[in-house]
Amino acid sequence: MKISFPRMGYSYIAFKWLVENIGHECIVPPEPSERTLDLGVRYSPEFACIPYKILTGTYLEVADMGAEVVLTSGGIGPCRAGYYWIMHQQMLDELGIDLKIIAFEPPLNNISDFWQKLKLVWKSGGLSYREFIRVMKVAWEKLKAIDDLEQLSFKVRPYEIHRGETSRTLWKGLDFLDEANSIPEIKEARSEGLKLLNSMPQDKTRDPLKVGIIGEIYVVLEPSANHYIQIMLGEAGVEVDRSMYLSGYCGRREMHRPNEEIFAMARPYLNEAPIGGHGTNSIGETVLYAKNGFDGVIQLAPFACIPEIVAKSIIPRVSREQDIPVLTFFIDEQTGKAGVQTRIEAFVDLLEKRRERKRKEQGRLRAC
Ligand code: SF4
Repeated sequence: MKISFPRMGYSYIAFKWLVENIGHECIVPPEPSERTLDLGVRYSPEFACIPYKILTGTYLEVADMGAEVVLTSGGIGPCRAGYYWIMHQQMLDELGIDLKIIAFEPPLNNISDFWQKLKLVWKSGGLSYREFIRVMKVAWEKLKAIDDLEQLSFKVRPYEIHRGETSRTLWKGLDFLDEANSIPEIKEARSEGLKLLNSMPQDKTRDPLKVGIIGEIYVVLEPSANHYIQIMLGEAGVEVDRSMYLSGYCGRREMHRPNEEIFAMARPYLNEAPIGGHGTNSIGETVLYAKNGFDGVIQLAPFACIPEIVAKSIIPRVSREQDIPVLTFFIDEQTGKAGVQTRIEAFVDLLEKRRERKRKEQGRLRAC
């Protein structure tokens, strides 16, 4: 089968390896571009959120490239994401495009459905169960290593001496991972990539601001969907801490605090069951960033995303009471890179002045 999937950051490297090693042909989804968004906007309902529109465009592009099947995730709970794959399938059928979407729902929700779909994918590739498990383990290791490299790039970038060098070095590390075919090879590629990033020329006299990134998973993880905001911040001398990585979302503890802990932080502000998407997380994580001494928080929210709209309406109180500035970006097809850049520059300026003022006040208090 010719299989594709939605593109979410650099994770496509691990998914490509997985699809190919199960025994299928992988149609690698292109990085979402203006063309992707144009297609997405043309064939999506106007009210749909930007992740939906980007996926619409991606599915049309991969269908053009010959994909027969798209593997994606479903969803349960109050967020409408759970319906999206059904709407995408309807749209493809109406357009007469022969592309089948297989959506994996959370396994604990319906284990037999999850199992049936998994079996369909691996058996049609001709693997035995044992081989399939081995391939899954290697792909998981790859996904974790990709996240490790990206996480380190956020720490190194604000110290880089030559603009853009962190991104170039990160790509070198990702290329090593792309070529690795076993767990020992991935471990070696990972440590080589980390070494390259750590040994880049850096100006350690700098004192970067620390900013946490919160929000809806797709626009947080896919750089083209957020106008490369995390790179932009790093190059403006800010150390970014992203609240979410795909491996963390899939259960890797080192990359994600348990939801119970985050929800406990959110509870004084939102005493409700989860509101869907990552809305409750956005509130809890803002509290955590404040408690951990961060200088500010940026919320990335698709326009018309209800969970993030609810979070946004509560965040001003969190920001006031926890004494941490929060900047929200509502992202839609009208959002432009220049506008994002201008707002980032103003926010960074504000955070710098605020930090300076606080340090002066602390100095005065110590002198008393
Ligand atoms: S969380 Fe928000 S952006 Fe994501 S699918 Fe749900 S409504 Fe859309």
